[in-house]
Amino acid sequence: MSTTDTAALLDALRQRLGPEGCVAGADIGPRYFTAYNEAPVCRPLAVLRPASIDDVSCALALCHRFGVGVVPQGGMTGLAGGALAGADEVVLALERFNGIEEIDAAAGTVTVRAGTVLQTLQQAVREVGFELGLDLGARGSCQIGGNLATNAGGNRAIRFGVARDQVLGLEAVLADGTVVGGLNKMLKNNAGYDLKQMFIGSEGTLGVITRAVLRLQPKLHSTHTCLCTVPDYAPVIELWRRTRASLSDVSSFELMWPDFYRYVTAHTPGLEIPFAADEVFYLLIECATTNPDAEVCAARFEACLGEWFEAGLIGDAVLAGSTRQAESLWRLREGLAIDALPNLINYDVSLPIGGIDGFVQQCRATLAGRWPAVQSVFFGHIGDSNLHIGVSLAELPPSGGHEVDALVYALVREAGGSVSAEHGIGRAKRDFLDYTRSPAEIDLMRTLKSALDPRGILNPGKLL
Ligand code: ZN
Repeated sequence: MSTTDTAALLDALRQRLGPEGCVAGADIGPRYFTAYNEAPVCRPLAVLRPASIDDVSCALALCHRFGVGVVPQGGMTGLAGGALAGADEVVLALERFNGIEEIDAAAGTVTVRAGTVLQTLQQAVREVGFELGLDLGARGSCQIGGNLATNAGGNRAIRFGVARDQVLGLEAVLADGTVVGGLNKMLKNNAGYDLKQMFIGSEGTLGVITRAVLRLQPKLHSTHTCLCTVPDYAPVIELWRRTRASLSDVSSFELMWPDFYRYVTAHTPGLEIPFAADEVFYLLIECATTNPDAEVCAARFEACLGEWFEAGLIGDAVLAGSTRQAESLWRLREGLAIDALPNLINYDVSLPIGGIDGFVQQCRATLAGRWPAVQSVFFGHIGDSNLHIGVSLAELPPSGGHEVDALVYALVREAGGSVSAEHGIGRAKRDFLDYTRSPAEIDLMRTLKSALDPRGILNPGKLL
């Protein structure tokens, strides 16, 4: 685009959105061009901060007319680089279009604007006796619009599903400014294509999500957290079957491999260490219950642990007796200590649950065969078939992390897994989309993209 065109577009945007709604040049703060835990990248052409649906629509219509790329932005907590803009693109930040429009207690729904911070929404629905099905570590800064655009997974997926499963109604704005969708509150609505699903998980490449109707869950009264050791992988699978059968309110089923447990327990100052680091597996199970009688729930959990021990499925077990103890078990599982590993590369992949340990063994051996001094750690939300891998090399190969990515993702492809479990494809995993999706699927994605965004202005260079 020529300089005159750029000036004309910025003028028109400024006039329509006001000085708070259109920020350009040196006035753009680094948070709009910095990904989570990374150094700032290039400053975008402008940051648009619409305060209404009409603002979003007009901003998109203008950018569409000028053919300028638009990168929708939420709380910037994604890990796939999906919300970073280039120097000739504009950021569309939904932060000013926030707040809860309605909580409908009869329908059990909340109508919320895209820029609302997840934690704000969680607190608001709790105050009126409900619970939101979605929860993730970034709750204090991530926004609902971003959660839906990336179909975030989070901590409670085995209980309530992923972001997609919370949505009853959705409103989005297309590349040319057309507002589509509606605020449906009904569970059953089979009148034609379910268009909202196209936008959820599309990472802002098909439209910009502005509002959503989410279903609400009954309030959770208490949580019960246990850590146990498991002698082999077959018992882990049997425990998963038994947990679902006897503890239907299970909300987390998280596994740590010994390399992860050993590293975290050795490198987290002040951490309470429940067991020695010489066991095969460490399994964290949490139940979140709607039953107001916490003692009954704790006793039921304890009875299960007794049965599992008798059956030889678990070795040692500790059931947290206080919130502080539960937090300590989670601190161990969250394992922030691994962030200190040199040149750490994190992977977020999915694999069929029965084959996860086989994959881990193969991945560990293949990495060590290629780089003998590699340090790898494995842990994950295995009840969701989601595995996290941390790979650390004292020195990265000349190609950077790409060679490590290619090795790990090739094994994921072989095992029939997915290269992205919860963070999407963004910019980081574009080269590997075809490891998980067939050529026919990718062609269909391109057909959808060109039908909805013929000029290719929505989040260019991401996903596809
Ligand atoms: Zn995770």
